[in-house]
Amino acid sequence: MGTISVVGGGIAGLALAATLDPERWSVTLHEQAPDRPPAGAGLVLWPDVMAALDSIGVGDTVRANARLIDRFELADGARRTLHVIENRSAHLVTRPHLLKALDAAVPASVIRSTGRVESPDALAGDLVVGADGVHSVVRRTMLGGGPARKVGVAALRGLSPVATDGMVELWQDGALCGLSPTASGESNWYLAHRANGEFANISAWDDATAHRVALALAARFGAEAEALIGATTPAAILRQDLWVAPARWRLSSGRAVLIGDAAHAMAPNLGRGACASILDAVALGQALNTMDIPRALRQYQRTRAARTQGLRAASSLAMKVSMLERGAGLRDRLVRLGG
Ligand SMILES: Cc1cc2nc3c(=O)[nH]c(=O)nc-3n(C[C@H](O)[C@H](O)[C@H](O)COP(=O)(O)OP(=O)(O)OC[C@H]3O[C@@H](n4cnc5c(N)ncnc54)[C@H](O)[C@@H]3O)c2cc1C
Repeated sequence: MGTISVVGGGIAGLALAATLDPERWSVTLHEQAPDRPPAGAGLVLWPDVMAALDSIGVGDTVRANARLIDRFELADGARRTLHVIENRSAHLVTRPHLLKALDAAVPASVIRSTGRVESPDALAGDLVVGADGVHSVVRRTMLGGGPARKVGVAALRGLSPVATDGMVELWQDGALCGLSPTASGESNWYLAHRANGEFANISAWDDATAHRVALALAARFGAEAEALIGATTPAAILRQDLWVAPARWRLSSGRAVLIGDAAHAMAPNLGRGACASILDAVALGQALNTMDIPRALRQYQRTRAARTQGLRAASSLAMKVSMLERGAGLRDRLVRLGG
C-alpha cells in the first residue's frame, strides 16, 4: 500500500481524501485548524463540479443544502440590466455545508493530524499533496514557487436574514455588489472595493467597522442591498484582501504536487476557485486510484494545468473589467451591446 500526506483539509484536501481508494492508499490529512469555520458565505458550483461531487458520492448531500440558481443578472449601479444568463444553472451552497459534506465522505481509515505543517519535505509519504491554499507552504518549500500576491481589492461577504429573489451582480465605479438567495431562505451577499482609502486597511477592521463600511458601500447599490446587508450580524461579516497565487505551469515536482488554491488561487470574479479545487482533487485522486504515481501526475498535469491557469488569468481579467474606475460607462454600454 502506498502512502500519501495531504497538507490542508479545506475544500481541495477533503475532496482528495474522499476520492482516494482506502484499499490502495494510506492517507494522512494535516489540517492546522482544530475546527471547521462555523461561518461562511455562499459558493457557486457549476454543473461539471456537481458531476465530480456525484462521482465521490457527495452530490446529493450538497444538492439537499443548496439553492438552484438558473438566472444570473449583471446590472449597473442604477440597476439597469447589462446582461442576463438564463441557459445555465448552478448550485449555491454555503462553505460550511460544502465542507461538512466533503468531510463526511472521507473514509474512517484516513489519519487526521491537527497542527500547522511547517516543513512538508519532512513528511512521510510516497506523495505529498499541497492542498494548503493561496499561501501554500508546500508550493514554497517543495516546488520552488513564489509568494502569493495581493490584487488590490478588498472583499466583504456575509449571509443576511433578509430574503432576496434572484442572483444579481451590480457594477459601480471601482466597486461591485452581489446578492443571491440561499437554500435556507437567507441571502448571500458580497461587496468588493478597490483597496484604497478606508479599504486599504481591511484586515485591521473590527466587527463594528466592517458593518459600518459595508452598509455605507451597500447604499451605493440601492435600497435592497442596503436593507439586506445592514441586517447582517456584524461579527459574521467576513472581510479580507484578495490574493492570487503566482502563475505556474508545473503542478508537481519530485514527490510533491499542488491542488486547489495552492496551485492557482484566482480572483473570485468568475466564481471558479472552489470549483477548480474540487475538479483538481477528483482528477488527481481518480488517476492515483488507477495508475502508478508518475503516470497519475502526468495525467493530472495534462488534464488540469492549462485549464486552471487559463481560469486564473481569465478571473484576473474579469476582476479588472468589473472594478474599472474610469470608463465604466463605456464598459457598461459595451456589455449591454454584447449581451
Ligand atoms: C471573496 C471570495 C469569494 C469566493 N467565491 C467563490 C465562488 O463563488 N465559487 C467558487 O468556486 N470559489 C469561490 N472562491 C474561491 C474559493 O474560496 C477557493 O478557491 C477555495 O476555498 C480553495 O480551496 P482550497 O482547499 O484549495 O484552499 P483553502 O480553502 O484555503 O483551504 C486550505 C486549507 O489548508 C489549511 N492549511 C493551510 N496551510 C496549512 C499548513 N501549513 N498546515 C496545515 N494546514 C494548512 C487551511 O487551514 C485550510 O483549511 C471565493 C474566494 C473568495 C476569497
